[in-house]
Amino acid sequence: MKKVLMHVCCAPCSVYCIDELRSESIEPTLFWYNPNIHPYTEYKARRDCLKQYAKDVGLELILVEDYGLDEFCCNVVKDLTNRCVNYCYPKRIGETARFAAKNGFDAFTTTLLISPYQKHDELKEVGEEFSRLSGVEFLYRDFRPGFRAGQDKARELGLYRQKYCGCIFSEEDRYRKQIVRDQSLSTPQLRYHNSSKLPASKVVTQNR
Ligand code: SF4
Repeated sequence: MKKVLMHVCCAPCSVYCIDELRSESIEPTLFWYNPNIHPYTEYKARRDCLKQYAKDVGLELILVEDYGLDEFCCNVVKDLTNRCVNYCYPKRIGETARFAAKNGFDAFTTTLLISPYQKHDELKEVGEEFSRLSGVEFLYRDFRPGFRAGQDKARELGLYRQKYCGCIFSEEDRYRKQIVRDQSLSTPQLRYHNSSKLPASKVVTQNR
């Protein structure tokens, strides 16, 4: 049987991918490596949910712990628009490919391929690139047709379901409309406080 290492971004996304691979008689080894998830409470919630789900479905789970808000932000802050493709995908998929090569796997893949919110073609390119570099097959599958069914099953199973992609910038995106709406409703009055000892500071008072 083919030995496949599957990078898992979260338990809900893994549900359909696992079922699908099992329908091909593949029993993937699950691989947790997600230094893109912030803050730590969120990272822990997703990781712990996957730990439990791996047990429930009887699959081996390898955890590579790397919580890194500082490192992640330093690497993406200069080009936030392209952060997924330039840093986040290569970081996670690259580590998966390296681990697969080092530990005798025949192929690697990722549950990111199920998400209609990710840049699917770019993910495929990154996977293929790391396949060339590592010499391990990239098991490409377009899991997206099963996204809704997988999420429904995850809800039925009571799995922890996150509200944003992972990084702190995607958390801001989640609230973008609300932020714009709130800011348009409030016109802050500015007062300036001066002191001979202290630099001028700005005080914002909320309108009533
Ligand atoms: S939006 Fe998601 S894929 Fe993109 S950088 Fe943030 S965590 Fe990574």
